[in-house]
Amino acid sequence: MEKKNVWKTWTEERAAEADAFAREYMDFLDAGKTERECVDTLVNRIEKEGYVELKTLIDKGEKPKPGDKIYAVNMDKCLVMYQIGKAPMREGMNILGAHIDSPRMDVKQNPLYEESGLAYLDTHYYGGIKKYQWVAQPMAIHGVVVKKDGTTVLVNVGEAEDDPVFFVSDLLIHLAGEQLEKKAAKVIEGEALDLIVGHIPLKDTEKDAVMAGVLKILKETYDIEEADFLSAELEIVPAGKAREAGFDRSMILAYGQDDRVCAYTSARALLELKDKVTDRTACCILVDKEEIGSVGATGMQSRFFENATAELMELMGEYSELNLRRGLANSVMLSSDVSAGFDPSYADKFEKKNASFLGEGMVFNKFTGSRGKGGSNDANAEYMAHIRQIMDSSDIVFQTAELGKVDVGSGGTIAYIMALYGMNVIDCGVSVLNMHAPWEATSKADVYETMRGYVAFLEKAGM
Ligand code: MN
Ligand code: MN
Repeated sequence: MEKKNVWKTWTEERAAEADAFAREYMDFLDAGKTERECVDTLVNRIEKEGYVELKTLIDKGEKPKPGDKIYAVNMDKCLVMYQIGKAPMREGMNILGAHIDSPRMDVKQNPLYEESGLAYLDTHYYGGIKKYQWVAQPMAIHGVVVKKDGTTVLVNVGEAEDDPVFFVSDLLIHLAGEQLEKKAAKVIEGEALDLIVGHIPLKDTEKDAVMAGVLKILKETYDIEEADFLSAELEIVPAGKAREAGFDRSMILAYGQDDRVCAYTSARALLELKDKVTDRTACCILVDKEEIGSVGATGMQSRFFENATAELMELMGEYSELNLRRGLANSVMLSSDVSAGFDPSYADKFEKKNASFLGEGMVFNKFTGSRGKGGSNDANAEYMAHIRQIMDSSDIVFQTAELGKVDVGSGGTIAYIMALYGMNVIDCGVSVLNMHAPWEATSKADVYETMRGYVAFLEKAGM
């Protein structure tokens, strides 16, 4: 099968556009290192571009018209955007979906302790990580502490140049003979992922003086007490900004690109529609909790999206249980998530004909799954044909892939959940190297080409 390299197909002008887009994307990654920060950053942006909150329209009882831009937020961690099309909603929407949670370490509920003159925050990692990758490097803490009186304290420390950072220690090589004999999964155990957060003892304090010193700083800085950790969501992420990678600055090395690369490009694709009135309603849904199974009130399995769509249909004067079901079944979706990029250093884990490559464009995965496609949403051939037609007619460079060789591993996405409505869904996204590592790599070419692919889908899809 013929393969194309995006860089070779682009004019200088398009390469410059892609470069400018990559910079905006990198700014987004720096601003959004948690689900909440991603939602907040995007809401600020889309409100400037004319998006109005669904709740506001409901309160006013205002009926949206074609071209109107509407959004809803779920518990500050999940965002859905709609740009109303010409056709009634029961005829279906063109939906882009991605997730905005990323692997990391979360602070436990009772986290603070002191040992041998060092204060620690105990953690529980989130999502699938190679634990040995998360030690001995600068880490930042992002999140919220909600106090008993309901006030929310925002925490973001470790990113500014003069901020302190934190770290998980690792055993020095000189004493690591026994450690290095262990399996990689056991080299660093989950309970060893504890963050060092301080070391000066508070004067005139007998017991846990270092811990007392840290608590004093937390009180002064955030006005929080130790018990406030009970109602906190603090995420420990690699400190530092997204960077261009390679002498040719062709790639982006950054934390959280799984799956913020698809989330940002999806949201931006909706904004690219500007004031164009599309035939069908364009929609983008960005969810939390994908990395732990799409569970919970803010994961894809929650009814949030269905409820928001029902509310919107009610406002449009076309809600009924049957119309809602019809609208969802008639919708088509690109469920986007990062794809495993072919890594020449680990070539034997891929089947080269069916692997994605950095620089070869938007990736479509007809199926994912493991051991006989287990757990996969295997997109219909008719739908895949429709997608090929859209992408080719808009000159989008795309490739098709599986996640690794047969029986080597697996990976899940949100596709199967939306498929429950009976809609056509296909997995797609951007090829990534070092997926789930503290720093993940993408190609600027793929990031921009994928965004262009999303725009083509929003404008042309509908079966
Ligand atoms: Mn993932
Ligand atoms: Mn993902």
